[in-house]
Amino acid sequence: MASESSNESMSFRECVDRMVDRAIVASGLDPSTAKIIQACNVVSQIKFPVRIRGNVEIFTGWWAIHSNHRLPAKGGLRYAAIVNQDEVEALAALMSYKCALADVPFGGAKGGLLINPANYTEAELREITHTFGIELARKEYLSPSLSVPAPDMGTSSREMVWIADAYKSMFPEDVNQSACVTGKPLNRGGIQGRTEATGKGVQYALREFFHHPDELEAAGITDGLNGQRVIIQGLGKVGYHTAKFLSEEDDVKVIGVIERDGAVTNPDGLNIHNLRQHLAETHGVKGFSGGDYTENGAQVLEMECDILIPAALESQIHANNAMAIKAKLIVEAANGPVTYEADEILRHRGVTILPDIYVNAGGVTVSYFEWTRNLSHMRFGRLQRRYDELRGQTYLHSLEQLTEKAAPEGLRNDIVRGASELDLVRSGLDDTMRTAFQDMREVIKHNENIHDFRTAAYAVAIAKIAQSYYDLGLVDPATKA
Ligand code: GLU
Repeated sequence: MASESSNESMSFRECVDRMVDRAIVASGLDPSTAKIIQACNVVSQIKFPVRIRGNVEIFTGWWAIHSNHRLPAKGGLRYAAIVNQDEVEALAALMSYKCALADVPFGGAKGGLLINPANYTEAELREITHTFGIELARKEYLSPSLSVPAPDMGTSSREMVWIADAYKSMFPEDVNQSACVTGKPLNRGGIQGRTEATGKGVQYALREFFHHPDELEAAGITDGLNGQRVIIQGLGKVGYHTAKFLSEEDDVKVIGVIERDGAVTNPDGLNIHNLRQHLAETHGVKGFSGGDYTENGAQVLEMECDILIPAALESQIHANNAMAIKAKLIVEAANGPVTYEADEILRHRGVTILPDIYVNAGGVTVSYFEWTRNLSHMRFGRLQRRYDELRGQTYLHSLEQLTEKAAPEGLRNDIVRGASELDLVRSGLDDTMRTAFQDMREVIKHNENIHDFRTAAYAVAIAKIAQSYYDLGLVDPATKA
């Protein structure tokens, strides 16, 4: 992604640990519980051979389970040309805190496979994924009850089907086999709304933030969401859906998009649909007719705007560019886009940051709905949809009789309609994002040591995880703070 790399001495995992340390100190958690919470329980490196075009290639992957205070452990599986154990551990830790904050009853996990998917055909990728899936299942890193992967960078519903097939080939008798991964296509046990869930969650997070005049004032934002000037880094799954929902439904102006080959800007707002199409066809943003192109994506990160949404890789805002960021609000749609040092700089500069473990929790939240649906073997809403319609009709009929007026057609449809699976998923996601935001606000209100959303988010998460360890009797309650 177009950004100078940071010269920071701290690794990604150390950055996450330091941020969590800050919350641990601020919330007065006892050191022994803190140690248990922060330790990554398991991390495995897996090497496996696959025959590619007549030659054997050895692939390297990792699976990390940061916490299993709740099971299964949950997290995405990333395919990337640069991925390592430190990164996978950091991402697994973020998953633990994210699930706890969003009240998703899972532990945190993450996987990575060192691969450049562009170098392989679809059939080869299928073979590689199938073999990796078998290896994961053999080690119980793929199991509906213990450890459940999902899409992440470089993977999608396609890879999830291949992984589910690998599991099925090993455990054909498992009646819950489809719950071994989430993010599956609809016809293979997936759920409506999962593909765009993270982007939808980012939109709900922003909407919730904009519902609070005191937060807007503190961030130095004067108007509503409508018309805000946004710059987005990354137009992949998360960035694209975020940009699409915000521009189409909230009239936000996406004035800049940063991608691998540079950035495009347009002060009147970019057409996200057209830009995405251009990106799919040319693999870059260069040559897009709806905006001005620059090769220097890093510069666009520092451009004047109201809201900056990093939705690509980690460590994109670092000690070297944090002073130059002009946005009033940073919304972390990616995992770990702001380093620890940059976070310190930005906080001191008074820039408001909505943190990753809150902002991008939509993906795992809807994964939780999918997993639950798979275990119940039934689509959400199947039992009550028609019943709700019937009740709506009765209600409408009584209303019309009492008022002696016919309801207008639009209102009639709204009252009568039973909720579809997508309606229920969206409502559950919206509720999750709102509740988590309220939880962070409560912490800021009641803990005089906590003033920013990141520390508040971690404080909420660690308090919940700590409680589950106290409940399990893993920590002597006498040591409780
Ligand atoms: N990869 C997503 C994340 O980082 C989703 C994980 C999941 O659904 O389990 O949150």
